[in-house]
Amino acid sequence: MTRTDPSRNTRTASRRKVLISGGGVAGPALAFWLNRHGFAVTVVEKASTLRGGGYPVDVRGTALEVVRRMGILPRLRDAHIDLRRLTFLAEDGSKVASIHPHTVTGGVAGRDLEVRRGDLTEALYTAGRDDVEYLFDDSIDTLDQSGHGVDVTFRAGGRRTFDMVVGADGLHSRTRELLFGPEERFHRYLGHCFAGFTMRNTFGLSHELMMWNTPGRAAALYAVGDHDDVHTLLNFAHPEPPFDAFRNPQAQRDLVASVFADAGWEVPGMLAALRDADDLFFDAVGQIRMPRWSSGRVALVGDAAYAPSFLTGQGSSLALVGAYMLAHSLAGRDHAAGFAAYEQSTRAFVTVNQEQIGEGGAALFPATARALEQRNDMLRRLSTLPPSEGRPAHSALTLPEFTPVT
Ligand SMILES: Cc1cc2nc3c(=O)[nH]c(=O)nc-3n(C[C@H](O)[C@H](O)[C@H](O)COP(=O)(O)OP(=O)(O)OC[C@H]3O[C@@H](n4cnc5c(N)ncnc54)[C@H](O)[C@@H]3O)c2cc1C
Repeated sequence: MTRTDPSRNTRTASRRKVLISGGGVAGPALAFWLNRHGFAVTVVEKASTLRGGGYPVDVRGTALEVVRRMGILPRLRDAHIDLRRLTFLAEDGSKVASIHPHTVTGGVAGRDLEVRRGDLTEALYTAGRDDVEYLFDDSIDTLDQSGHGVDVTFRAGGRRTFDMVVGADGLHSRTRELLFGPEERFHRYLGHCFAGFTMRNTFGLSHELMMWNTPGRAAALYAVGDHDDVHTLLNFAHPEPPFDAFRNPQAQRDLVASVFADAGWEVPGMLAALRDADDLFFDAVGQIRMPRWSSGRVALVGDAAYAPSFLTGQGSSLALVGAYMLAHSLAGRDHAAGFAAYEQSTRAFVTVNQEQIGEGGAALFPATARALEQRNDMLRRLSTLPPSEGRPAHSALTLPEFTPVT
């Protein structure tokens, strides 16, 4: 286990202690804001280090104000990917339509951000790390709330007591499982699976995404910049989540290869790259919907509580806004009142953004020939429209002011 040492450790004795599980997007953002509100914060992350690079994520609407208040907006503007074009292709590889990305995503040119996930996590981590204790290469083993706090045992062997614990450990959250039971109860499967990985950019693509579709299948090449690599996405309709494949990378490769076996365009080369990819990411496309986000002294934030699926492009923004609202709700309140205030202030924003799947993303992956034809007609119309002015859902929450602790 590696750890960082917060410079203000000597002041932590009288402060309320919070353990956050997960050092992705929601975890470091929550750690930053809880620290600003006077809490002593520890983050436990199962990976041995913060991971750089990664697929691109969006920061939009209200979430932009969160990162502005954290002082990292200029850094994220420098990391902005500036995707310039989406080109949609038919089964034979011919062009259907070429449009500006914001026309589909509802983003606003010059305002909203798209950055590599690793650039976002690095900026969030750097903003708070001097005042937060980070434990890498470790995770929560057990949680016991029977006393006056939460007794935590760690996989690496330690045992400590915290006033509160927050699960920011992503879509397949272990904290959620410990607290509320199996994922199946809260996972709303959206009928698709996807495989993502990187391969060499032998296509001459730059700042653009190309997507090939047949009914129920999509293959995309996403050139984030002028780099040597492209991100690939192979998305396909599947009636039930393929549970057997989730823990078996070879089964994932085999499933994807069989679904795309007769596909044209650049897909044969993508399947060849898939065989050797060392960064394969395979999952079901789904949302997490929960009736409550906390139980006792333990709460959830980000994908763990309300993953909206990548079809909305709002996962990172919900994680950032949720982290800010949770920290603000706990300031000056005990855990019960604070967690209730968090849900009360944030749930409507989460719900309206989870409902955006029909607006953009899902329409990109039609499952029938008729739906694909309708989508293509829509794309041809969109290609003639003026740039997007943003979706109301992205800004449907106004952040309360931050009041520093005195
Ligand atoms: C292929 C893909 C494309 C996406 N595209 C977009 C997009 O365009 N726009 C967008 O906004 N979002 C996108 N997302 C979603 C986005 O990445 C997430 O919604 C967002 O990162 C949520 O942040 P989080 O902190 O809640 O969870 P995560 O970012 O998943 O972070 C969870 C962290 O918890 C750690 N962890 C997990 N289990 C444990 C454990 N037991 N103990 C300790 N640590 C643990 C993990 O290592 C990780 O660091 C995409 C996701 C995928 C997979």
